[in-house]
Amino acid sequence: MKGGITGLVFDIKRYAIHDGPGIRSTAFLKGCPLDCLWCHNPEGKDPRPVLSFVEARCLSCGACAAACPEGAIDFSPGSFPKTNRERCTACGACAAACPTGAREIIGRRYTPQGLIEELLQDRPFFEASGGGITFSGGEPLAQPEFLRECLILARKKGLHVALDTSGYAEPRLFLELARLSHLVLYDLKDMDEERHRKNTGVPLAPIMKNLQSLFEEGIPVWIRIPVIPGMNDGPETIRAYVDFLSRLPTKPPVFLLPYHDIGKEKYRRLGVPSRLDGLKPPSRARMEELARAFSKAGLEVHIGG
Ligand code: SF4
Ligand code: SF4
Repeated sequence: MKGGITGLVFDIKRYAIHDGPGIRSTAFLKGCPLDCLWCHNPEGKDPRPVLSFVEARCLSCGACAAACPEGAIDFSPGSFPKTNRERCTACGACAAACPTGAREIIGRRYTPQGLIEELLQDRPFFEASGGGITFSGGEPLAQPEFLRECLILARKKGLHVALDTSGYAEPRLFLELARLSHLVLYDLKDMDEERHRKNTGVPLAPIMKNLQSLFEEGIPVWIRIPVIPGMNDGPETIRAYVDFLSRLPTKPPVFLLPYHDIGKEKYRRLGVPSRLDGLKPPSRARMEELARAFSKAGLEVHIGG
């Protein structure tokens, strides 16, 4: 075990039932090289800690402004404090001074041992259900050294480990970390190169190449497709997904994840504009219609997950 490696985690979800088989604990690692228009975890994108502010909890007492060493908070009595995010260093002084928890620093540093020990607390549930732990993000491969140590440690403890990834990573590193996982949950966000680049900020080709390498290696894969109305749910795109997946030698299960706007409030808390305001989630009937296109081709398909 190498000493001194730490990682930044922005959330731990316990009793997760959609992040791999059985009951699981999912650790969300900070940092992501993609910039998906529909991202519902905006707090995970920045590789550094970020400040979150919940206006509904604020008493307008001004304690945060008095505590800020950067002079980043503008406060006038009777109003809500305004934070200059460019000046904010996410030092946490305002969060410590806030009497209501309206301010919070998102991103906690862990050693691999510390994180695995925390995740291990639910081991009896994993054992009873055939579950385990899942590394998600952000993009977990954006903290490769930390992830590697966590995967090695988890395996030593006999845990089932899943990796939830966009697949956008340097191929050798990607394969090395995928080989340390029992299952890869692969987010395939589009089948059109140009649109993928436009809506996620990165090319599709290296993602497809990395996915192919998982099949060549025989690493179990679950495909996760976020269904974003008007973007990747047109007939040509659905046909492209079905053609590609149904021709694979081992047909992976497919999980269609309907777009939702639950992340909207998170954007407000971070002071970041949400770019898909007004987009409606697909209806259940629409999701079932899409699912039929996959099942007709002999693919195991699930809605949600
Ligand atoms: S986190 Fe630190 S720098 Fe940022 S607003 Fe709070 S006190 Fe100021
Ligand atoms: S310290 Fe907390 S409650 Fe007081 S003004 Fe700042 S955010 Fe609001």
